[in-house]
Amino acid sequence: MWIYLNDRFVEEAAAVVSVFDHGFLYGDGVYETIRSYGSRIFMRDQHLARLRRSADGIGLAIPISEGRWPTLLHEAMARNDVGNECHDAYIRITISRGAGDIGLDPALCRTPTVVIMAKPLRPPSPEQYRIGVKLIVSRTRRNLPSALPPHIKATNFLNNILAKQEAIAAGAFDSILLNWESHLTECTVSNLFFVQAGLLHTPALACGLLDGITRNIVLSLAQEAQIPVHEGYFGVETIYKADECFLTNTSMEMMPVTMVDGHQIGNGMPGLLTQQLHRLFIANRLRFLEP
Ligand code: PLP
Repeated sequence: MWIYLNDRFVEEAAAVVSVFDHGFLYGDGVYETIRSYGSRIFMRDQHLARLRRSADGIGLAIPISEGRWPTLLHEAMARNDVGNECHDAYIRITISRGAGDIGLDPALCRTPTVVIMAKPLRPPSPEQYRIGVKLIVSRTRRNLPSALPPHIKATNFLNNILAKQEAIAAGAFDSILLNWESHLTECTVSNLFFVQAGLLHTPALACGLLDGITRNIVLSLAQEAQIPVHEGYFGVETIYKADECFLTNTSMEMMPVTMVDGHQIGNGMPGLLTQQLHRLFIANRLRFLEP
């Protein structure tokens, strides 16, 4: 794999960062995961804008000008033979505080470390989309927004990793995290939706969750299709009693959920509204790709 590191593309073996990098020492950094459909990047500007907001949130100046990103992302794809008719690309941008003496003060680090990776996108299997996936509700609570705001997509991902470990131990696809008030928030790398009596529900951003780019698309598509939406505060029983449930993120698009904590969702198969929204997502995809 060719990797962009700081100021040039290098081969994977040469793509090494210092043990003094504060990303390694403290999880002090931000990141984005992006995808392409063929050569066209999905919601590129929105992902880059979120990267900027995350960096602003930790007081990190991104050392790459806005105008350079499109060329760098396309070069990362081309060098790795992805982002073409054979392979959609999975792109990860990581920006850490950089190397500096041990200590929490960001001023110890002169230059942020910038890494861009691009590899073939590996979406979930068609079987998972066909029958849906199982979730658990984890014991791990989502970070308190006043402690670590979830809108900062930080390289310190332990909150989500603890919840993912619980899911793996339970043989589930993923975990739903509750917040400090036992309201539903999101899963470890995706946003959560459910349907009850024809109404589409999703936890409000104020519950403490990432402002997902796919979540926003699904909300707009639902609005355009005149499907009523309720963004609000929901307890765990609401999901057990839901007629349908699904997850959203950039690489999965929409994944149906058919069981939560052993409770069957609806008739145990992906729901009609879930399927309708996913069809709308696919039909409208061109609108969300860079030109
Ligand atoms: N929630 C979390 C915690 C995530 O890490 C992600 C994606 O990385 C999402 C939600 C979904 O966000 P998006 O639709 O922008 O990919």
